[in-house]
Amino acid sequence: MKKYRGVFLKNANEAAVMREANRLVALALDEMEAAVRPGVPTMLFEEIARDFCSRHKVRPSFLGYLDFPFALCCSVNEEVVHGFPSDKRMLIEGDIVSFDFGVILDGFHGDSARTIGVGTVSEQKQKLMDVTRESLAKGIAAARVGNNLNDIGIAVQRHVEAHGFSVIRRFVGHGIGRHLHEKPEIPNYFAPGLPDLPLQEGMALAIEPMVATGSYEVSVLEDGWTAVMRDGGMSAHFEHTVIVGHDGPHILSLP
Ligand code: MG
Ligand code: MG
Repeated sequence: MKKYRGVFLKNANEAAVMREANRLVALALDEMEAAVRPGVPTMLFEEIARDFCSRHKVRPSFLGYLDFPFALCCSVNEEVVHGFPSDKRMLIEGDIVSFDFGVILDGFHGDSARTIGVGTVSEQKQKLMDVTRESLAKGIAAARVGNNLNDIGIAVQRHVEAHGFSVIRRFVGHGIGRHLHEKPEIPNYFAPGLPDLPLQEGMALAIEPMVATGSYEVSVLEDGWTAVMRDGGMSAHFEHTVIVGHDGPHILSLP
């Protein structure tokens, strides 16, 4: 596989497999989203994820990755990412729940995430989800030949901070392909230490802003995984896998 400054460049065949892997991820997320309602345990979505994988003959990317114990990351309210599905945690009206999911198809990963409101949510939570989704769109729009890697984070951060929210620093986006996490790391903020990386056709990037209502500081719970906002604020997470084309960014994780 061709590389540019340590970043794998996908050819048309590889991009086609990744498109299919990511399309499946989007379909799975659609199934989860359709099942969101007050009163269901978050384990329901793990069951949907596993059932989806067996129906479509793909493997979940996260199960067993660095010993992560589930197929799905399911994070509610102040949980940011890497939350555990649970049969004890029931969704309640007004919650926001983030699903982060990936699958492996023919050796290539797909990865996407979205945050969903449970029933009617507060104005602030709705705005948080909207701004995070919009910031992802801004970051994706910056993922084009002629730009640098840092332009993605700058675009995300500008939008988020203009609306009074903060960008989480602790977790970043990533290159993706034969590995779930490949070079480069993709911060969602301007990172002065980031080496200059001119974006190239064939780069596959998982862009995933995580946004908080308060401070961006997070803590990790004793389970070793679940990241929560230290100040108890709310957070939202949206992610798409994108391939940089000669004519601009192509979002792969669409149904
Ligand atoms: Mg993800
Ligand atoms: Mg990711």
